[in-house]
Amino acid sequence: MNTGRCLCGGVTWVLAAEPFQAFNCHCKLCRKAHGTAFGTYWFFHAGEIRMTGGEDIAVDYRSSHMLVRKFCGACGSVVPYSGEADDQHAIAPGGCHDDGRPSDCNIFVPHGAPWHEVTGDLPRHHDYPPETGYPRVEEDPVPPPPPGVVRGWCMCGRVAFETTGPYGSAWNCHCGRCRRGRAAAHSSNALNDLRHLRFTQGVEHLKSFRVPDARCYTQAFCEVCGSKMPHVDSERTIAIVPLGILEDDPGIRPEAHIHVGSKAAWHVITDDLKQHDGASP
Ligand SMILES: [Zn+2]
Ligand SMILES: [Zn+2]
Ligand SMILES: [Zn+2]
Repeated sequence: MNTGRCLCGGVTWVLAAEPFQAFNCHCKLCRKAHGTAFGTYWFFHAGEIRMTGGEDIAVDYRSSHMLVRKFCGACGSVVPYSGEADDQHAIAPGGCHDDGRPSDCNIFVPHGAPWHEVTGDLPRHHDYPPETGYPRVEEDPVPPPPPGVVRGWCMCGRVAFETTGPYGSAWNCHCGRCRRGRAAAHSSNALNDLRHLRFTQGVEHLKSFRVPDARCYTQAFCEVCGSKMPHVDSERTIAIVPLGILEDDPGIRPEAHIHVGSKAAWHVITDDLKQHDGASP
């Protein structure tokens, strides 16, 4: 039985069938929802995802006229929701599952992050695959940032921040916590000095979840829309920034895949970044 859960374990579900379709979506909203390079969505017929716990703590967020997303209100992980523009389909985030169907294609590829290169042989679509019949989506251009500033804001726009110093190392982490927290194949995080980060609005909407048995593993998110936000670690004076939330190019690229030993079985790494079974040496 293929069971899924969010990072905190409060929201749980069971897949009663194999997905009939699986996409990696690179659009900006999905990047913000997951805080990483792309979201992987598995599509089911209505009723094939059976919620087994936590429906009362799941929060709805309407990100477009077609789509109401859902996330765990306690930890911020994306959790299953109904399909676009209809209730005939249900969607589960592949990242919350260790095993399952490999992705069929990459969608919204030209909308992808400047710091992430799409590699591999899967078909690539400009927006939705043609067979879905969904309309083409354009993203509104965003005015450029002031020189030296990298901005980020959540899907709902309530929480915004900027960084004004160079980013340190960045990596794609495949550990079980990152996969469930981001509800994605892997997290893509970069470090910055705490003094370089400034929240410009909406800190009152920031929520964070610290994994109880972890030394410092914390996921920060907007309580209204569930977008992943920088986690401020004052003890280590660093900010851990989910690259997917950024509006501007941070100028760095993930340098390696880490915790590849814990990678999801359904995910295939196709780029030539270094791979480490555990943490970066
Ligand atoms: Zn949760
Ligand atoms: Zn928000
Ligand atoms: Zn990790």
